[in-house]
Formats: sequence, structure tokens, C-alpha cells
Amino acid sequence: MLQFNVLGFPVVVQWFFWLIMALMGGAIRAETRDDWIDVALWVIVGFVSILVHELGHALAARKFGYHSTIVLHGFGGVTIIPHARFSRGQSIWVSFSGPLAGFLLAGITFALALVIKTEYQAVRTLIGFSLFINIVWTLMNLLPVLPLDGGQILREILGPGRLQAACFIGGIVAVLVVAYAISERQIYLAFLFGYFAYINFTNGHAEGGVIKG
Ligand SMILES: [Zn+2]
Repeated sequence: MLQFNVLGFPVVVQWFFWLIMALMGGAIRAETRDDWIDVALWVIVGFVSILVHELGHALAARKFGYHSTIVLHGFGGVTIIPHARFSRGQSIWVSFSGPLAGFLLAGITFALALVIKTEYQAVRTLIGFSLFINIVWTLMNLLPVLPLDGGQILREILGPGRLQAACFIGGIVAVLVVAYAISERQIYLAFLFGYFAYINFTNGHAEGGVIKG
């Protein structure tokens, strides 16, 4: 387990994070040296991107006076904000700040790609991975499915009396994503959103403290 501090926030990286990222990066199919370089680049970009996303949440929470701890685990990352009492508007902003940080990193990557214009394959791969993770994953994170950021934003918009409605919408959207993932043979995505469908339909997501995914 790796532990360090970034911008004053404690960060814990569980070993399961590296394992799942390597599997998603193609570690099972990797044979050649180039394949393994791609796996390593994917893990590096995934690590930096998810950390930047969580720092977006943590910095927004700090703006409202709360300290956060970041944990990177097998299903991505979470920013844990103990004892936080956000207003609805603040909570929406803290939830949105993670995706916003991802879009900013995608923008920086895009600008660098325009400036660098390299033929060096590893750099091109890095740029491609960063654009994919910070655009596609961030958009997926904005789907209205709890515990994703999009689901948390929907829950706050609907208000405390309509948690059931937020969970119902989340469950339906999660099932649709599972159907899509199965048709595309994306096993990890199907498994992840199958789990989300379960916790939405059972309203079983964590309500203790404030956790931004
Ligand atoms: Zn998030």
C-alpha cells in the first residue's frame, strides 16, 4: 500500500488499484515488450488521471472548510470528507469538481498534443490514453447513477425527499449500461454497472459521512 501527501491531502493507493488498472490496460493479453510498455503507460495515466479527479473534489471541499483523504482502490478512487455538512449547492459543486478536473486535464493534454507534435510512439500513446480516460471516463462518471458523481449531483438536485427517485433513475441507467457493455463484450464495465444497478435498486449506497467517488 502506497501512502503520500499531495497539496496537503493524504493519499492512500491500495495494491488492488494497480492490479485492476494493469488488467484494464491489457496485462492478460500482453506478450511483447511493446505490449508491456503500453500496460505501464496505461497504469501511469490512469493513476495520474484518477488522482487529479479526486484532487478536484478535495480542493472544492477545502474551499468550504473541510479536509479530505483520497483513496485509490480497485474501482477507481474516492475522496472521503469526514464530518462535512454541505449545503445542496456546495455538495453539487464538490461533486462536479472531480469531473471538471478531469476535463481540465483532457484540455491540457490536447494543448500539449498540439504543441509537441512528436513521432515518438510512447508520447503519442500517453496522449491517447489521457484523452480517452479524461473524456470518456469522465463522461461516464457524470451518468446519473449512484455512487458516481452524476448520481450524487442528481440526488442533490432532486433533494433529500426524493432519494428513492434518484436511486430508481440510477438503477435504470445502470441496467442500460450493463446491456450496452454486454453487447460490446466489455466485461469489467458490465460487472461495475451491474454492481451499481444492485446498490441503486436496494438503496444500499453509503450514506455515512460524505464520500465523493
Ligand atoms: Zn468523482
